[in-house]
Amino acid sequence: SHPVHARIEGAVVLIGFGSIGVGVLPLIERHFEYDASRLVVIDPDPDMGNWLRQHRIRHLEVGLTRDNYREILGDLFGGGPGFCVNVSVDVSSLDVMRFCREIGVLYIDTVVEPWAGFYFETPDNAARTNYALRESVREEKRRHPGGPTAVSCCGANPGMVSWFVKEALLRLAADTARDVAPPTTREGWARLMQSLGVKGLHIAERDTQARARPKPRGTFVNTWSVEGFIAEGFQPAELGWGTFEPWFPENGHRHDHGSRAAIWLERPGAITRVHSWCPTPGPQFGFLVTHNEAISISDYYTVGDPAAPEFRPTCHYAYHPCDEAVLSLHELFGGGRKQDRLEILTADEITEGGDELGVLLFGHERNALWYGSRLSNDEARRLAPLQNATALQVSSAIVAGMVWALENPEAGIVETDEMDHARCLQIQRPYLGPLEAHFTDWTPLATRWDLFPEEHDDDEPWAFLNVLAT
Ligand code: NAD
Repeated sequence: SHPVHARIEGAVVLIGFGSIGVGVLPLIERHFEYDASRLVVIDPDPDMGNWLRQHRIRHLEVGLTRDNYREILGDLFGGGPGFCVNVSVDVSSLDVMRFCREIGVLYIDTVVEPWAGFYFETPDNAARTNYALRESVREEKRRHPGGPTAVSCCGANPGMVSWFVKEALLRLAADTARDVAPPTTREGWARLMQSLGVKGLHIAERDTQARARPKPRGTFVNTWSVEGFIAEGFQPAELGWGTFEPWFPENGHRHDHGSRAAIWLERPGAITRVHSWCPTPGPQFGFLVTHNEAISISDYYTVGDPAAPEFRPTCHYAYHPCDEAVLSLHELFGGGRKQDRLEILTADEITEGGDELGVLLFGHERNALWYGSRLSNDEARRLAPLQNATALQVSSAIVAGMVWALENPEAGIVETDEMDHARCLQIQRPYLGPLEAHFTDWTPLATRWDLFPEEHDDDEPWAFLNVLAT
């Protein structure tokens, strides 16, 4: 009963076989036709080798590096065509994407991943931002427009949430009695957001997945890559910076090149808390962890000159990871060292909860609208094998992005904001559980403890000053 969406010609190469790779492989098998003898998984971890052999899937037990990636990928693709799915850590998205486009191979990833060493060995904080990583890919797009499609940052977030923003805007337009046709250009979408009075948005997530036993001390537990989460958590906090903001943080820095859509704070994202809102908890703290979409969405919805825009929304992640991950961060930052053991919760050991991931559009005449996926782990297990709710939101976005790339093979380098959101969501929707819209009258000023003095802006409830927890 699962539709085959497209045929992939040539080799299919999956780089990385961690929580996302393991989950996306069965979906690729399910939804694409291809020559199975040309599917290869590249991952240096020997633990997965036995499983892959038993499933008759070729495994290259090697880590890609700056020195070997051209030779290894060149041999596997043999000059193209093919599809390269990069879901690894420590393998440069930019270099692999560039090589794939040179040899006529389609490419997709879920973050702008740098080579090993970048996250902890780059002393300059500005150079360690996602702004810098994203600009490197945007620069490649500017220099080499068009050509074979390479989809950048197409997971759940970054990725799917950009499609949610467009759905949420159309929903808000309908619910505020505007007769609006879906825009067909970037400028049209930006003008729509501006005309609806949206001041900004949070990527508002609550992961409630839990297992029966408590977190073991000295173990970092998460529902997706622990290494990926620690890496991004130690990057500076970053956010797309809106034109409505009446205040600027003392530890904030702007950029003087590129899109100028974002600022960064002199503080790691994983210990920078913000006030936010999701349907299950209502008001909650999230972490202001840097993400590509915070920058790409603010950039995409900019009206006017990027250096002095007429309108730009504030946009940032407000992430409440699973409770064990919150405890893990507490232990890691308090202890000043990374735990010795890293664990990713599997779908089978999770006994309750799910991942609630959406966009919270704020500042408009209905105050705030959360629109997103509320996928329980139980439902994720029924829908697809080998993955929890978090991974399924990611892997199904990858499938949607792959279908779009196969249908648009000469679109050049694109981010998910630049893709047909309706087509992508049509493919992904069966895997997302309930997709819901919730209006709320909550603002960041609504839930404060007034026994201690705090600096507020009472005139602008959604000001970042009020969102940032002190
Ligand atoms: P993971 O840590 O579970 O797995 C990463 C895999 O990469 C491991 O199996 C590891 O052995 C492999 N690897 C490490 N070095 C490699 C190398 N040099 N060459 C090839 N493989 C190598 O991570 P995950 O949870 O599967 O996440 C994979 C990627 O997807 C990460 O970059 C993560 O940040 C990203 N991600 C994006 C989203 C999103 O929504 N956009 C969500 C989750 C994860």
